[in-house]
Amino acid sequence: MAGILYIVVPCYNEEDVLPETARRLREKLEALTAAGRIDAGSRVLLVNDGSRDKTWSLIEGLHRESPLFSGVNLTRNRGHQNALLAGLMTAKDRCDMAISMDADLQDDIGAVDNMLDQYEAGCDIVYGVRSSRKKDTFFKRFTAEGFYRLMNFMGAETVFNHADYRLMSRRALEGLAQFEEVNLFLRGIVPMIGYPCGTVEYERGERFAGESKYPLKKMLSFALEGLTSLSVKPIRYIAMLGFLVFLVSLVMLIYFIVRWAVGATVQGWASVICSVWAIGGLILLSLGVIGEYIGKIYLETKGRPRFLIREVLEDRHGEAD
Ligand code: UDP
Ligand code: MG
Repeated sequence: MAGILYIVVPCYNEEDVLPETARRLREKLEALTAAGRIDAGSRVLLVNDGSRDKTWSLIEGLHRESPLFSGVNLTRNRGHQNALLAGLMTAKDRCDMAISMDADLQDDIGAVDNMLDQYEAGCDIVYGVRSSRKKDTFFKRFTAEGFYRLMNFMGAETVFNHADYRLMSRRALEGLAQFEEVNLFLRGIVPMIGYPCGTVEYERGERFAGESKYPLKKMLSFALEGLTSLSVKPIRYIAMLGFLVFLVSLVMLIYFIVRWAVGATVQGWASVICSVWAIGGLILLSLGVIGEYIGKIYLETKGRPRFLIREVLEDRHGEAD
């Protein structure tokens, strides 16, 4: 039997692109329903992440026009990952499988069919993997691929060139619901869920309209977030570095004792100043890295809600009005 599919789309100031995205998603759902691949109760779930433009009124309009569109309005801007989680957790109790994608049409909607094929073949999680980064600027490609390499080097398991375009079955979503961390890095958590998984390659296009909501500063903090929430290796490296520095100081000590014994004067304040600065710098850096983790512990112990929902708009299939 065909299952209920929810397509979850986080939207932050997406008034320029939303009408087109909605049109294409609607076409897709209608085609899949007509082909008998998904249940007529399938929906596009648009999550408004505290936009300051007309995004929410557009979503309300879409919902009025067609029951295919549901909406979730968050109380304020919580960032892409939290908005996506809010959508997935709303979809969890309503669907058999959910696909998350960006609002800007960079994720090729055509890949949905392949994702469904894999789902039908028994996969609980299907990762959308971009086949090339030809359309990215050199800078974006360089930083993004460097990021995946660094993550793997640091021992954090991520799927190479996979962002947040993926299908998850209901039981995978239920698994995700049990990860309660507030420092959310979904593409690192999802592989931890387990279950059979597959990948689908797709060509990632350019943003259809509007501008990126991920400037360099946000990208860097997202990368740091990912790294520190998936791996404790940085702390381990600090310990190793400390040990190494200690060894160096021992060698220096022996060297100076020998020189003293043979009567050569130990001279030069330069070496002293250099080591003071070097050690001082290393200590500060190390404190910073450790502080980063302590900050995370602080946020986790508070256990604040990751998102708050102001309003849900929906018209569930088969429900009386
Ligand atoms: N987004 C969001 N909240 C934010 C920032 C972004 O929900 O605070 C959404 C945005 O609307 C889009 C997706 O996250 O659907 C990806 O953002 P964007 O396309 O700007 O990122 P990029 O593709 O440039 O990395
Ligand atoms: Mg984008």
